[in-house]
Amino acid sequence: MAASPPELLLGRLRALARTLREAEGRQAVLQALVRALDSLGSPVVVHLPAGPLDQELISTRTSADSERTLVPILRYGSQPVGALVAPAMQTEAFVGALETAAELAASRLGQLDLQATVLRRSLELALLNDLSRGLNAAENSEEALSLAAAGLSQLTGPVELALYQLREGIPALVSWTGPAEVFPATVRILDGSGQTILGGGRATGMRTGPGVVADRPALVHVLRSSAGLVGVLVIRRAVDGPPFPEDQTALALALVEHLAIALHNVEVLAWSRHQAAFDDLTGLAARRHFLDELRREVARVRRQGAPLSMLMVDADHFKVINDTWGHPAGDAVLVALAECLKEGTRTLDVVGRLGGEEFGVLLPAADVEAALMVAERLRASAENMRVPYAEQSLRVTVSIGVAEWGPELSLEDLVELADGALYRSKKAGRNTVTVASALTTMDGTT
Ligand code: GH3
Ligand code: MG
Ligand code: MG
Repeated sequence: MAASPPELLLGRLRALARTLREAEGRQAVLQALVRALDSLGSPVVVHLPAGPLDQELISTRTSADSERTLVPILRYGSQPVGALVAPAMQTEAFVGALETAAELAASRLGQLDLQATVLRRSLELALLNDLSRGLNAAENSEEALSLAAAGLSQLTGPVELALYQLREGIPALVSWTGPAEVFPATVRILDGSGQTILGGGRATGMRTGPGVVADRPALVHVLRSSAGLVGVLVIRRAVDGPPFPEDQTALALALVEHLAIALHNVEVLAWSRHQAAFDDLTGLAARRHFLDELRREVARVRRQGAPLSMLMVDADHFKVINDTWGHPAGDAVLVALAECLKEGTRTLDVVGRLGGEEFGVLLPAADVEAALMVAERLRASAENMRVPYAEQSLRVTVSIGVAEWGPELSLEDLVELADGALYRSKKAGRNTVTVASALTTMDGTT
């Protein structure tokens, strides 16, 4: 039977309230309780385990029997997370003081929980935000995938990612982080009930949602964008560990949404880059792409010092072809001319369409003599070319300007020199090759 004067109880509770305000963790709450309840005249045992509470202490109401008085500590007012246990036969004031102490502790625990949750959520949000910004700037799927893997690993522990894209309806492995042999080259994607939703044949089946891939916990998501199915993403633990908990699964899903959009954007970007880089009619490098290649080559020979030449090629009296046979006939001649230039050069040479009926040829490792030989060969093969069109056999000749790069020349100088040489070929009567420096001309008619 305890006999604590009410003033003592009250004093202890006030002190408890003050200490709890400063308590920054479960351990501190426990210590504050122990200190406040110590030497009240009746021993009180405080249970506040980090893990699950003993079954016999779980109670949502104060209870008393012949052995003991039990006061639960209820988080959020209803979840037992601890208990204060005193001997039986306590005064009402003493039980009331225990209940107040339990409530004070529970309330502080709730606050700490909330703080931790808010902190975790805001970290997750900041991370997702950073990540989605990074993903938006990703240049290719590898980059997007590594960013996503790095971000997810911070939230879930180390993970590796694999991206499958549809190749003729079959999800095929296109990029991955971590060791490649982990992920099968193609997969069949099943829905939760085991029905195939993507792919077929005897490929390894993967179920969408939480599961196991190559003996480790994994999440399998079908990626969709506004354009439809993009592929399949597999998130797999990089080291052994438990299945992904539900809140991490939800977070991973949010991230995967961003990733799907980023991957779609990467594809659109690659496609539009290709569209911009190559000419529709002839498939040759478009002007800007050709000049980019030229710039790259000039920078390279500046460092490495190998020769570099370029040709400027222009169809002669092309307007006449259009005027006589029509624009589509002119198109057919341009396509044939592009083919002729491609066939007459090496794979490392770059042929570009610089404008209407004007082409550029970049000849890495060719000095002016070599370039002159190429130019003459191209001029001759254009002259010998016959383009079948609507029962006609069309012919065209070209004029060519040749220029070799030298260290004193900028990219623009080189183009200008080749252009000037081309102009002189025209002046010289067309179907002619002129070299910029020596003003050498090789006339096809002589
Ligand atoms: P020159 O020998 O002096 O080069 O005479 P040209 O007639 O070839 O040169 P000009 O610049 O007077 O005319 C070029 C013509 O090429 C005019 C233009 O309509 C035509 N052309 C430009 N692009 C295309 C195209 O994509 N298809 C067709 N069919 N014609 C084109
Ligand atoms: Mg022309
Ligand atoms: Mg022209």
